[in-house]
Order: sequence, then C-alpha cells, then structure tokens
Amino acid sequence: MMRIAIVGCGQLARMMALAGWPMGVHFTFLANPEENIDCVAGLGEVVRLTEGLSGESLYQALGRPEVVTVEREQVDTALLASLRPFCPLYPDPDAISICQHRGREKAFLQSLGIPLAPYRLANSAESLTAAVTELGYPVFVKSCEQGYDGQNQWRLRTPDELNDLIACIHSWPPLVVEANVEFNRELSIIAVRSASGDVACYPLTENHHREGILITSQAPAPELTPALQEQASELAHRLLTHWKYVGVLAIECFQVDDQLLVNELAPRVHNSGHWTQGAGICSQFENHLRAICDQGLGATTPLVHAAMVNLLGQPVPKQITRCGDYQVHTYNKQIKPRRKVGHFNFQDIDPHRLRLRLLALETELYPQDQRLLNLG
Ligand code: ATP
Ligand code: MG
Ligand code: MG
Repeated sequence: MMRIAIVGCGQLARMMALAGWPMGVHFTFLANPEENIDCVAGLGEVVRLTEGLSGESLYQALGRPEVVTVEREQVDTALLASLRPFCPLYPDPDAISICQHRGREKAFLQSLGIPLAPYRLANSAESLTAAVTELGYPVFVKSCEQGYDGQNQWRLRTPDELNDLIACIHSWPPLVVEANVEFNRELSIIAVRSASGDVACYPLTENHHREGILITSQAPAPELTPALQEQASELAHRLLTHWKYVGVLAIECFQVDDQLLVNELAPRVHNSGHWTQGAGICSQFENHLRAICDQGLGATTPLVHAAMVNLLGQPVPKQITRCGDYQVHTYNKQIKPRRKVGHFNFQDIDPHRLRLRLLALETELYPQDQRLLNLG
C-alpha cells in the first residue's frame, strides 16, 4: 500500500484523500498546532507539529511516507526540505517558496518572459505612493505573503483611499502594487506533470469571483478557441518543465482580448479545478496523486461541459439536497461568513444550458444585492 503524507488538513487535503482511497493509498496529515482538522476526520492519522519535530523525527511521526505533498503554499519550506533525505517532496519546496511570495513569483514569471500586469514593489508610505502615481488609479495593493480569497488586498480608486490605507498600516509588510487589468474574463488552467515528466492540461476554465472569492467555474471556458488553449498550455509547459515540477500546478489568468496575463500561481490542486471531479475524466486530485506516485496520468479532456458553484458561509439548501441535478460536496467545516464549506458540481452536453443552470444556482445561493459577508 502506498503511503502519502499531506501537509495541511483543509478541504483540499480531504479531497486528495478521498481520491486516493480507491487507489489504495494510505494517508497521514501534518497539522499546525492550532489547525482545525475536521476536514480530514476519519481519512488518516493527523500529526500535530510540535517544537523540534523535523527531519527524521518528522518522517517517522508521519509513518515513513513514500512521498510528501502539500495542500497549501503557506508551509514552512525549510521544515519540508528537512524531509529531503528520506523521501521525495512534491512539488519541490523551492517552487513552493516562489509561490509563497507575490514579489518573488512575479519576478520569476517575468524572468521566463511570461506576460503579467505592470507592478511595483512597496514597503513604505513613500514607495506605495510612488508606485500608485506611476501605475495610476485604480490599483490593486496586495501583501506579498499570506493573502488568499481576496484577503490582505485593497483596490484603490482615489488618493483619499490611498491615504486611508496608509493611515491604517502600522508595520509595513512587503507589498505589490498592480495595475488594474481591464480583463474580458478570468480563466485558469490546471496542469499536471508526473515524476517521469509526462504533462497534461485540463481545458481552460472560466472563473467568476465576488469580493475576491471564487464563486463559479465553467469548463471548457465558453467559446474557448484552440489558440487560447494553446497559449495557456504553452505557459503551463514552460513553467512545469523549467521547475521539473511534479504534481498539479494551477495558473490563474486574466484574458485581455486574445492575450493571457498571469495573475498568480498555486502550487497545488485548486478550487477552479473542482469541476474535474464530476466530468467523467481523471480528477485533478487523482491526477495529482498519480503524478507524485509516478503513475501514468489520467484523461483531462471532458466530453461534457462542466460547472462548479462554491458554497460559502451557509448550509446546503434543502431544495438542492432534494434535487438530483448536482453532486454535492461538503467539507465537514463549521459554517462562518465567507468561508468555503462545500461546492456543487454539475454537467451538461449543451454549454448554453449549463451556463443558464450555473447562473440560476448562483442567484439562488447569492442574491445579487447581498454581500457575502452577511451570509452565514
Ligand atoms: P486566491 O483565493 O485566488 O488565492 P488571492 O487573495 O490570492 O485569491 P488574487 O487572485 O490576486 O487574490 O485576486 C483576487 C481577485 O481580485 C482576482 O481573481 C480578480 O478578480 C481581482 N483582481 C486581482 N488583481 C487584479 C488586477 N490587477 N486587476 C483586476 N482585477 C484583479
Ligand atoms: Mg492567491
Ligand atoms: Mg487568485
């Protein structure tokens, strides 16, 4: 039986384990001292990180795994690297470290000639003001580290908003300041590379966010052209082969006319790939496990059109449980406003009908006039 240790105990760890159980994989999970472990309850042993646990003692505590992987990029990469003498770590901690920090990530993408929005770095009121002046309003200001679901980022439209932000920052974290991208839409590509170097890409997915949080995905993205898919696959190949990356890599993009600009990378399975669970192909979770166990990669091209709607800050509505049209995924999490607690997958052979179903479900769950903050 294959033994895999996953760093992290959230819903992504849960869904990797759920995909791995039929493959006969045995899982252990590494949790931070205060981390909630409800998502992985019953799916494998959870090891709590304690002082001094690293290298061989950590490897032993995790049950001598054959491979270690992560469900999030915010991990202690030095701790992860301490396991290097004992088993492979996928993806490599060096790639994870780049993705942990928006400044490092953007510099890296630029060094590979990958298009992205103009940006500046800032770490003081003066450098922030200079960056905003150079880029012009509106701008996005994002902390380099510890940001997800739109947290620790601000969209500034006026000098007053800039001054308000400056007034409330007491100790300055490293920041990136990004030009506002007037995108046609947001797309992402989920790509995977196996330990032997095989690469596969799922079709580009169209994503809709509200208040910085992903709400819906549809794949293949409506009216996807072969040229756009080719552009995304080429980007993915370039990144994966440069890093000799192993596992799933998600690339979030803005489409501006017929060009893709990269917004950010996620060195892991990704929310915009959840639709792959119900589309009659190999899911991103199974392909990630196949990649890190060096098995052949599974099919990534669906015959149907697939959609996903996130469930944020509320229980599964009764009418959805009663109706058989959706695959309901819940994460065993306590419900809190804005928190991702589950998602719905559904498919249709007709992309237009699928879009209508997606919009209807979105409106049912998130009435247009209601802020997500108030849900839950
Ligand atoms: P995630 O949960 O995907 O990790 P995050 O907190 O890392 O999110 P981003 O992906 O950087 O944040 O931004 C969240 C959303 O805000 C984007 O998906 C997009 O809708 C919007 N956004 C971010 N940066 C820009 C930009 N430069 N121009 C226009 N819109 C942007
Ligand atoms: Mg992010
Ligand atoms: Mg994002």
